[in-house]
Amino acid sequence: MKKSVKIIIAVVACVLVIGGVIGGYVGYELTYHPSKWLAEGDDAIADIPFEEAVENLPLLANTWQEALPQTEIYNLIQNHFDAPLPEGKTEKKAIVIGYDGCRVDNFRLIETSKRSAIKTLVDMGGQAVFSYAGGVMYPEENIQATSTAPGWCSMLIGRWANEIGVTNNGQPKPVEPKTLLLSLVEEGKAEKSAFYVSWDGHFSKKDATYINEKHYARDNGVNTVFRRALFDPGTKFNIISDLKKTDCSDFIFSTLEFTDHEGHSTGFTPANIKYVSAFRNAEDAAMDIIEAVTARKTYDTEDWLILITTDHGGYGGGHGGPTFEERMTFIVSNKPIL
Ligand SMILES: [Zn+2]
Repeated sequence: MKKSVKIIIAVVACVLVIGGVIGGYVGYELTYHPSKWLAEGDDAIADIPFEEAVENLPLLANTWQEALPQTEIYNLIQNHFDAPLPEGKTEKKAIVIGYDGCRVDNFRLIETSKRSAIKTLVDMGGQAVFSYAGGVMYPEENIQATSTAPGWCSMLIGRWANEIGVTNNGQPKPVEPKTLLLSLVEEGKAEKSAFYVSWDGHFSKKDATYINEKHYARDNGVNTVFRRALFDPGTKFNIISDLKKTDCSDFIFSTLEFTDHEGHSTGFTPANIKYVSAFRNAEDAAMDIIEAVTARKTYDTEDWLILITTDHGGYGGGHGGPTFEERMTFIVSNKPIL
């Protein structure tokens, strides 16, 4: 190849890479900048103590003292697939949209939100309830870390994850007991399932929580997809691409990192405008996902369970501990829960 041709190829490649990086940055800023979702009064969001905030949150059908264990997610999904099909419906479907590290007192932002997936599910005839992480109800001291892997794992197996050795991140879960992603498919209640995330701790590292299940599914031909995107917009894209297929996954489990990421960077509190913005970005992405569900050509004959929940709250710049702020979570469904 001529030297001049090589130089031209190198220059074009550089321009494409630099252009892609700048374009990606500008696109991300336009789509996810904190100012996008600002509502009136957001710039002066009061720093209300958590104890006071949880007494006055809208939409919740129980009190925090009546919070359900987060393992209840497992029962809601299992019961959905076990229940007979309602009149006119021919297929069961379910999706969990997880907002990682989303404090329940973010609910006080919903009334001024331009798009709220949580409110939409309640308006569809559903319910929102307080739930809790940590193995036992607050104020009893938690026996399980309010961390990501134990939180999601407890929901996916219906038992507190520390009982099977998942006491923190970086501890691969044994294949048994299987998560709903595998068990629903193996028991024939779902034809296929999918796990969509961007966090690499779920199933993308050697010590990831579900690495053994991922290998088991591959080796035994279980129809479960484990797909990781680099960031939340990619996770949303993967979910919506699935939902656009005529024969979409029957059970989808997903986590969005907006709130956890921002909480660790700038503080878990709705008094922090960046955390507020992260919550609204999660709500916006979830709305796009719900709209993709209801836009399905076969939606009218499908019996959908749509859930939004979180694995833990947060306190200061972290979570894992025993505080009220870390322990209280929430479950929202498009169907009654209580
Ligand atoms: Zn988490």
